[in-house]
Amino acid sequence: MKSFDGHIAELLEELRCKGMLRELPSGCDWLIDLCSNDYLGFARSSILREQIAAQLLIAEKQVGSTGSRLLTGNSLLAEETESRVASWLRGKAALLFSTGYAANVGLLSAVAGREDVVLYDELVHASIRDGIRLSGAKGWKFRHNDLSDLEALIRRAPRRGRIVVVVEGVYSMDGDRAPLEKIVELCEKNGCDCIVDEAHSTGILGPHGAGLVVEQGLENRVAARVHTFGKAAGVHGAAVVGSEKLRCLLINRARSFIYSTAPADSFFIAIGEAAKTLAGSEGEQARKLLWERIQQMKLILARIGFDWEGMSPIFPFIFPGVSRVRQAAAIAREAGFHVLPIVSPTVPAGLERIRLCLHSFDTVASYRDIIELLSSARVGG
Ligand code: PMP
Repeated sequence: MKSFDGHIAELLEELRCKGMLRELPSGCDWLIDLCSNDYLGFARSSILREQIAAQLLIAEKQVGSTGSRLLTGNSLLAEETESRVASWLRGKAALLFSTGYAANVGLLSAVAGREDVVLYDELVHASIRDGIRLSGAKGWKFRHNDLSDLEALIRRAPRRGRIVVVVEGVYSMDGDRAPLEKIVELCEKNGCDCIVDEAHSTGILGPHGAGLVVEQGLENRVAARVHTFGKAAGVHGAAVVGSEKLRCLLINRARSFIYSTAPADSFFIAIGEAAKTLAGSEGEQARKLLWERIQQMKLILARIGFDWEGMSPIFPFIFPGVSRVRQAAAIAREAGFHVLPIVSPTVPAGLERIRLCLHSFDTVASYRDIIELLSSARVGG
């Protein structure tokens, strides 16, 4: 039998041959950031850092939680932060998870079971697919933002159990939005439950940055929302927002919540402060700057004949082919830009891309330069 190391070497070689071997990036600090999810600059905000530090010092917080929330890890601070997050996001209740990944896996596996069918947009995040797998439900994907395909699948789905429909507010790889109101109507007409992942819309869309569901006034018509705090909020963690009963079910059935040590006090403080800042005047100001940047990028793209809708801070610059897109990213990096090539399986083969993320702190000159550079790399490639 092969040694463990021999087996690992073979697996790595397989990935290398497919051009799918990944490495942790390093030495990017000096580059111009056009790829992070820090849309509003909160991760680097000295104001937020100082607010979090002050809160940590005031109350002599514990450095560790000592156990799962169901054992010794619960606290008044955790529950108060959840209430604050729920009211900011106009939900009845919220439960916090250590990451968006854990929230999606916990939520889907808690609400769906063997008898159920989960219909999900083909572009949803891997954490949603993993949650569906863990739930044991049938997972059927529908074509991206295609309501007739969704309707056809609803008709075909067995009616033994429930039908759950999962979409994202803003899609992470394309930057477009879900036609949410129509999806919700379709769900209501057919008795399906609708779940919305607001990872890339939290802090960016809606009143006080409460997301797309709230922007469209749908908060009482969707079953659950997942809001993550590792993107526009600048910290990390996620909230599942829904009814009190949903919160109670998650506490009882979400394995990623139950069987995991609760985050430390610093986590709840960071989320509480980030939520307060996002909802307040600094959040408004940062959002205003971000939407100005999006408009400026739209104009730059229009000048080269590209009609970008600009519905979010994510702009996908398509470069079909793994080696071409990697080469384009390397050229950009040499010119001082931090951009990332996105390849299959994260996006479908043939739709490889440089995913540009715009931020409130970007300069317009950097947009002009990167678009010029990528356009010539595409022509030359
Ligand atoms: N949902 C979506 C749509 C995401 O893009 C991501 C992260 N990229 C997640 C969930 C997972 O969130 P987290 O990074 O907090 O684990």
